[in-house]
Amino acid sequence: MPTYNFSAGPAVMPTPVVQQIQAELPSFQDSGMSIMEISHRSQLFDQVINDAEQDLRDLMQIPANYRVLFFQGGGTLQFTAAPLNLATAHHHIGLLDSGHWASRAADEAQRTHTQVDILASAHATNYTTLPTLTQPVDPTLDYVHLTTNNTIEGTMYTQLPATGNVPLVADMSSNFLGQTYNVQDFGMIFAGAQKNLGPAGLTIVIVRDDLIGHAQNLPSMLDYQLFADKRSMFNTPPVFAIYAAGLVLKWLKAQGGLAAMQQRNQQKAALLYDFLDQSQLFRNPVEPAARSTMNVPFVTGDPALDAAFIAGATEHGLLNLKGHRLVGGMRASLYNAMPTAGVTALVDYLAAFEAAHTK
Ligand code: PLP
Repeated sequence: MPTYNFSAGPAVMPTPVVQQIQAELPSFQDSGMSIMEISHRSQLFDQVINDAEQDLRDLMQIPANYRVLFFQGGGTLQFTAAPLNLATAHHHIGLLDSGHWASRAADEAQRTHTQVDILASAHATNYTTLPTLTQPVDPTLDYVHLTTNNTIEGTMYTQLPATGNVPLVADMSSNFLGQTYNVQDFGMIFAGAQKNLGPAGLTIVIVRDDLIGHAQNLPSMLDYQLFADKRSMFNTPPVFAIYAAGLVLKWLKAQGGLAAMQQRNQQKAALLYDFLDQSQLFRNPVEPAARSTMNVPFVTGDPALDAAFIAGATEHGLLNLKGHRLVGGMRASLYNAMPTAGVTALVDYLAAFEAAHTK
């Protein structure tokens, strides 16, 4: 029986990539050393990190005036690093309150003594819609923070809010490389790797170079300018995670790039949403225009039935469908590496479960 991993992260990796890692693990490029053992100062690793950066630049069409930085610390560290590096003029940012991760970003920014204005909130709809701007953004804000995909609530921005000359800083953790965006529309993008890019332990920062270098006396490990100057090797980078991410980037190129991925993701998500929308038992609470192609929460409305569904699904090889502890129910994450066959298997099991539990 095939198994399909619907986890929100760490999440499914492309099978050919996992197989390549397995094959190469004992001796990387005939060096006699595993990738886990090679020095980050070696030529072998230079090639790995340079290729990863170039492949990412090619896939996202990252302009030359943007720096690509490889950090550790997850998306969460960037909640701190972004205000420390970018909110230097006024220590004042705007934020769109689209759910849990946006509110975590607000909390951490406040800890850096940055004033955070909530410009719009989806709280009133229980985050089943997306907050949108209704008035022009104060031009003295240092930036506006946006979560492009809300992993827990299952909402996603496909159109960006207009913020005038105020840079947009995007937490793209859960739809990085799964949805196409124009990098030039952002001052900065960051994403933890463990959903669409590779193993946990690596975080990508893409930042416009005129926005960095203005902060004084930052802790070195949070300093974008320092990481840019040192090519992300101020200290030991996560060598294995960068290597694995590099393989995923090559896999993405072989799949036809991000436009092809986005189209496939829309088709996969539509299979599931179409089923849920006609179901008598299951439903997705999100307003259709705001729905994510990456994370699809759904419920029966009866926690005991939800638990029975999750247990049955697990027995059928459909893994990690339990919803986030904050919202309960179920959640299917359909990242790039989830094959269409996985979504079809999920829809078939949903239909079978519904037939068995409705009269
Ligand atoms: N932002 C979003 C949108 C996320 O989904 C997550 C984790 O799921 C985070 C930030 C936090 O990421 P990390 O665990 O890498 O710090």
